Parts: sequence; C-alpha cells; structure tokens
Amino acid sequence: SKEKGKNQTTLCSSAMKEEVLQQTQLTNSLYRALERNEFVLYYQPQVSVETREIVGLEALVRWNNPELGMISPATFIPLAEHTGLIIPIGQWVLETACRQNKEWQAMGLPPVRMAVNLSTVQFQDRNLLGIVDRTLSETGLDSKYLELEITESAAAEGDNHLIHVLHKLKGLGVTISVDDFGSGYSSLSRLKTLPVDRIKIDMQFVRGIAKGNKDEAITKTIIQLAKNLNLNVIAEGVETESQFDFFNKYKCDEIQGYYFYKPMPASEIESILMGLTKP
Ligand code: C2E
Ligand code: CA
Ligand code: CA
Ligand code: CA
Repeated sequence: SKEKGKNQTTLCSSAMKEEVLQQTQLTNSLYRALERNEFVLYYQPQVSVETREIVGLEALVRWNNPELGMISPATFIPLAEHTGLIIPIGQWVLETACRQNKEWQAMGLPPVRMAVNLSTVQFQDRNLLGIVDRTLSETGLDSKYLELEITESAAAEGDNHLIHVLHKLKGLGVTISVDDFGSGYSSLSRLKTLPVDRIKIDMQFVRGIAKGNKDEAITKTIIQLAKNLNLNVIAEGVETESQFDFFNKYKCDEIQGYYFYKPMPASEIESILMGLTKP
C-alpha cells in the first residue's frame, strides 16, 4: 500500500541520514586532520628469522582526533581514498617516515629499511614518481633504505601504467614489496612480470599455522614460490612461538608480528634501536 511504502521510506531514510551524517562528520574532520597535526606514525619492526635482528620497520599511520579519539586506518584510509585525501596524507606519511629514518641513521643507530604503504590511488597519481624522488632528496635518505608496499589486489589489477611506474620507482633505488600476498586473485605468472623484491604473506594464512589445516600447505608453497622467483619473503601477523618455529623451519626470510614487536611510537623504536647499537 501507499501508507506502508511511505513508512518504509521514512525508516530507511532516517537510518541513512544518520549514516551519512556520521560519514560527513568523519570526512570533515579528516579534511582538517593534516593541518591540525592529528596524524602520527607508529613503526613495527621486521625481524630476520635467522639472526633475529631488526632489519626493517613498517610505518603505520594513526589518526588521533580530539573529539573522536583514535581512529583505525582500516576506517579512515578507505575514506581518504574515496575523497582523494590519501594523496596529501600519503605524502605526509612518506616524508615523515623518510625523515625519521634518516634522523635515526644520523644518530648512529643501526640502519634499517623503512617500508611505507602506498594506496592504489597514489599509484594512479601522475606525480607519484616526482613525490618519491623529491622526498628522498629533501630528507637525504639513501633510497636503498626505502621500501614501498603495494597490495596484491592493486598489483593484480595493475595495468601497463603500474608496471611502468614500478620500474621507474625501482630506478630510483627503492625496493618494492607485495602486501597481503595470497589474499587477492593475482595469477602466479603475474608475479614474474612485476618488478618486485619481496612478498608479504597475508596474515590470514599465518592464523591457521600450527592448527593442522591447509594454511600450512599454502604458506609453504608461497615461501617456495618466492625462493624460486628469487624474491625475499616475509610473514606478517606472527603472534606465537609455534608460528615462528614454522617460519624458521621453512626458511622464511623475515617475520613481522606481535610475537616480537607491536607497532610502536618513534620514541620506543628509538630505545630499541639504541639497545642494538654495539658500543
Ligand atoms: P597492513 O599494511 O596489512 O598492515 C598490517 C596490519 O596488521 C597493521 O594494522 C598492524 O598493526 C597489524 N599487525 C601487525 N602484526 C600483527 C599481529 O601479530 N597480529 C595482528 N592481529 N595484527 C598485526 P593497522 O596498523 O591497523 O593497519 C591496518 C591497515 O591500514 C594496513 O594493513 C594498511 O592496509 C592500512 N594502512 C596503515 N597505514 C597506512 C598508510 O600509511 N598508508 C596506507 N595507504 N595504508 C595504511
Ligand atoms: Ca603493509
Ligand atoms: Ca599486510
Ligand atoms: Ca591488510
């Protein structure tokens, strides 16, 4: 009936209004977040399985809004991508991570790689190469200490433009890793056409290790694939000793996860790196 239809519309639109309002508030706050200095980088160590030394750090952005509190990147990164704000935010992340890494090296701390996540939207930006090049020269960070992470889904969808940009980036001397490997639908032959240095095994497979399910077989296969293609391989989300033992046994190069370290603010990373400095 007409009456019923009207009621449904009213119900539906009030819930939708609420949702839209929330999204709008979040978007408005996000627009101001950069100028208000609300972003902060955390860093999570990447550890060599063989030596157990920290060989890299992944920069992970955090948004601390005075009204809304801490907002997970899983919430605001998609919004930033949708609004295009990921371009200036991504630039800020890149600059901050590179400057921080250079600062630690200048202090005499053991040099490590710095991995920075790049969104597909950033790969579509024609200025990306110029931004990375300029950031390296402005911060003075040696390009071999910068790694750029591209998600497997981006790599899978990637056209000739993406491959072209990856080659140009590699030309600057940075390394490239494929994040969340195994979560997407990229064909394995695709991997061989991409100029990448490292693959990061998706956390979902790590979760199933030492539980006697098929994730172990998949994980072993990914490690072997990486070795056959001469790529470095890192497992993400390693939380337990038995998971670590698995990656040790199958000679995964590196691991990243709560088992060793959580993402931490710069000051805590600095103390840890200082502890590694040989007198
Ligand atoms: P990701 O790139 O796959 O990053 C790994 C996520 O796993 C991080 O979540 C990290 O804190 C978490 N993690 C690491 N070790 C463990 C573990 O042992 N157990 C569990 N349960 N989790 C672990 P986070 O920091 O919340 O970031 C979520 C996602 O947001 C990232 O996933 C990435 O896709 C995106 N992101 C974060 N920072 C940036 C950024 O600066 N730029 C872009 N484009 N995306 C970012
Ligand atoms: Ca990542
Ligand atoms: Ca990942
Ligand atoms: Ca992820």
